[in-house]
Amino acid sequence: MFMKYLVGYIATGLAFAVIDSVWLRSMYTRLYQPEIGEMMMKNGFRLGPAVIFYLLYILGMMIFAVGPALLTGKWQTAIVWGALLGFFCYMTYDLTNYATLKVWSTKVTVLDVDYHHGNGTQQIFYERDDVQFVSLHGDPARAYPYFTGYIDEVGSGKGRGSTLNVPLAARTDDDSYMKSLERACESIKKFGPSMIIVSLGLDTFITDPISDLALTTPGYDRCGALVGALGLPTVVLQEGGYDVNALGVNVQSWLHGLARAS
Ligand SMILES: [Zn+2]
Repeated sequence: MFMKYLVGYIATGLAFAVIDSVWLRSMYTRLYQPEIGEMMMKNGFRLGPAVIFYLLYILGMMIFAVGPALLTGKWQTAIVWGALLGFFCYMTYDLTNYATLKVWSTKVTVLDVDYHHGNGTQQIFYERDDVQFVSLHGDPARAYPYFTGYIDEVGSGKGRGSTLNVPLAARTDDDSYMKSLERACESIKKFGPSMIIVSLGLDTFITDPISDLALTTPGYDRCGALVGALGLPTVVLQEGGYDVNALGVNVQSWLHGLARAS
């Protein structure tokens, strides 16, 4: 009897390995790579947990499917009970994840508030639907880089709709800037990212020597607070800003707003 179970265990293991490798090969590029590719190891896998998984799962199949089939002498028993075991194990595991995870795949928003359109960032993510690019900037009709940052640039391919450009008029002040930023935040909420990266340019300041918007130091506090109110993990990267004497207080003001609201 022991030999019978041992042979059953090995045969089940071999069959499972074949089925599993066919499944992984066909589903890796179709499902895992696009959905959770960023979370997966680039080369190979952790051997220890994988071996333990196989040993345990095959033991489970022996107890609940192959063992009963050996007792009844009907191979159909193994097929039916094995299928049910797989169904209940994987289905409950996946449903638990789906019930509790905030997002299934990781989506990121890059919010660029530098005076100049973030043309490079836009280009990198233009065809991606898992990275949203939102930029508020001086209208390229009059401002560098002139050729990109227009409202009709919305992404392409499956990234269509994941790019939002908000060109701003000269001398845009705190109040009208806030209206545009509110619009931007609405679109971020709709996109539903798990984190935000802010390209924080402070060349939108009223006395910036190379730009023509009119934001003030208290205005930056309001901007930071609006982004903080999204309640998402936020990385802030400092970019432009050429009124160097005002840079320190303006950064401080933006970050205070962010910290207060998050
Ligand atoms: Zn700039």
